[in-house]
Amino acid sequence: MFGARRRRQREMERRLRELDWLDQNYGLGYLPPVPPPPPRKDPSRLAGAIALVIVAGVTTSAVFAMQPGIFPDRVHELLGTSPERLLPARDIPSGPGEFSFMATQPESDDPVGYDPCQVIEVALNVEGAPEDAQHLVETAIDNTSQATGLRFEFIGTTEDRDFENMGMDDPVLVMWSDEDEAPDLAEEIAGVGGSYRVSPFGGGKQRYVTGFVILDRDAYDDMRSGAMRQAIVDHEFGHLVGLGHVDDPRQLMHERGGFVTAYGDGDLAGLAQLGAIDCR
Ligand SMILES: [Zn+2]
Repeated sequence: MFGARRRRQREMERRLRELDWLDQNYGLGYLPPVPPPPPRKDPSRLAGAIALVIVAGVTTSAVFAMQPGIFPDRVHELLGTSPERLLPARDIPSGPGEFSFMATQPESDDPVGYDPCQVIEVALNVEGAPEDAQHLVETAIDNTSQATGLRFEFIGTTEDRDFENMGMDDPVLVMWSDEDEAPDLAEEIAGVGGSYRVSPFGGGKQRYVTGFVILDRDAYDDMRSGAMRQAIVDHEFGHLVGLGHVDDPRQLMHERGGFVTAYGDGDLAGLAQLGAIDCR
């Protein structure tokens, strides 16, 4: 969609998002308390610089109803067929590890997640990104797809950097930045990630439709450990698909990270559940 209608829609989404931002962020805590900065020469401590941004949802039927994107699924509904998953759901592993969700449905404890019948497109803005950026993103896609059964597609590079004004049809935006552009990257925060959600017209489950992952340029300039560089991107992809933080240091979704560099059993249980929701 382009032109005036697109602009009107974006403006409306922006206003709604601001409202939602106020609603949500002060209840949940916009940023976690940040302890004093660790010595930057210690790469494992630097990985502690992972924080959650609570991403506001576009939770209005009006915006969703304006989206032509819903029509293919309406056709399915009218014909009595249902869309099919693109990849099999993963078994939900059992283990002692903890997990949490960024958001649950208004009427139940079911998580908000991406539609497993839709491809999640991902684009990378290479401005200011490290040389290994694309490799990091593609590996995060593989790891997160493997754990969720969600299908991602890396569609290439983008010039877009406007993570605060994303449209429903935009690909997930991955970029490297600083606190001037993305204030959430202040102090020792090494990355932020999350997704926008919508509610279907007339009720039904909320869904994520797109989102962003932003990594801190300075943190990546200083970080030598390949495993740690990957762990932070994977952690933010965990947020992207709907995982929240846990206090369990065995999990990659621990707020300060740095204890493990791959998804733990709790992370994997949460990711499998996020990928196992019904299609729209
Ligand atoms: Zn986090």
